[in-house]
Amino acid sequence: MPTDTAHTDGPAHTDPPGAPPDGRTLETSALVARLGDVSQWDLEVIDSTQITPSMRRIRCTAPGLAQLSYQPGQDVMLTVPTPAGPSFRRRYTIRSFDPDVPAIAIDVVLHGDGPAAAWAASVQPGGHIEAIGPRGKITVDPHADWHLFAGDDSALPASLAMAASLPEPDRAIVILEVDGADDQQRTYATDARELPVHWVHRSGEGPESGVHLVAALAAVPLPSGRGHAYLAGELGVVAAMRRALLERGMAAEQISAKPYWRAGRANAAHGEPERP
Ligand SMILES: Cc1cc2nc3c(=O)[nH]c(=O)nc-3n(C[C@H](O)[C@H](O)[C@H](O)COP(=O)(O)OP(=O)(O)OC[C@H]3O[C@@H](n4cnc5c(N)ncnc54)[C@H](O)[C@@H]3O)c2cc1C
Repeated sequence: MPTDTAHTDGPAHTDPPGAPPDGRTLETSALVARLGDVSQWDLEVIDSTQITPSMRRIRCTAPGLAQLSYQPGQDVMLTVPTPAGPSFRRRYTIRSFDPDVPAIAIDVVLHGDGPAAAWAASVQPGGHIEAIGPRGKITVDPHADWHLFAGDDSALPASLAMAASLPEPDRAIVILEVDGADDQQRTYATDARELPVHWVHRSGEGPESGVHLVAALAAVPLPSGRGHAYLAGELGVVAAMRRALLERGMAAEQISAKPYWRAGRANAAHGEPERP
């Protein structure tokens, strides 16, 4: 059963790993020691490609990266440099891993603001960045009869990586919101068939609205049996999506809801959105 209780949409909030009680960011070595089952890499960018107008794919290698063991849906925590002042930690889902290179790919939304988006927009092959991983507790529930993935652009990497890893990827319910058709991605499952994604278009509206995503969740037919939903994106939208599924009769433990960012507020230095 995947749980990520520190990050679900419930009322309780505990500091995420990596955040000392006073809000500072731990030194990397102290954070690695505290987290336990993670590694630290000096990632080197191999290439950086504009895969859609809003998304940049960055592939990185590192000594020892071939040993990476992770579950689809897990992420790496980057220490993002800033031109002046302290670095910030930001989290990005491992979109894919090729142990032969070895290389991981991350897909970064170019949302126009923030140190991580600026880094992704400008980094060149040969650039280096520190990373810790794998992070994240939300992975595919092996006991579920069906799986539903929903979220905005920032949720594409996790949703598509997790859905493609299912024994029957064609049966995944995937609802993803992007601005328009140009931001849709080809979504190959492992057997090279495309995943059946229900694309929702914002058509110029901000991703913090979420109204189309919530409407799609309210309307999508839910199969019989015990399902599991994986929700990610803007904090308020994730809460609204979760409510929509609870209203449809899903139990709280069938929903893994993870706020990835918060409208109008930079994520905290440890990489998580601050709670209201
Ligand atoms: C576990 C986890 C996995 C994640 N995986 C991915 C991933 O694979 N790909 C990905 O792109 N993001 C992913 N995110 C989200 C990403 O970490 C945040 O969007 C982060 O805020 C980006 O940092 P920044 O420095 O660019 O912006 P920040 O400094 O955090 O924010 C600056 C401003 O930009 C706004 N903003 C931040 N993110 C977005 C956005 N996506 N769209 C519109 N406005 C935004 C904020 O509201 C703020 O006003 C993930 C987050 C978590 C917690």
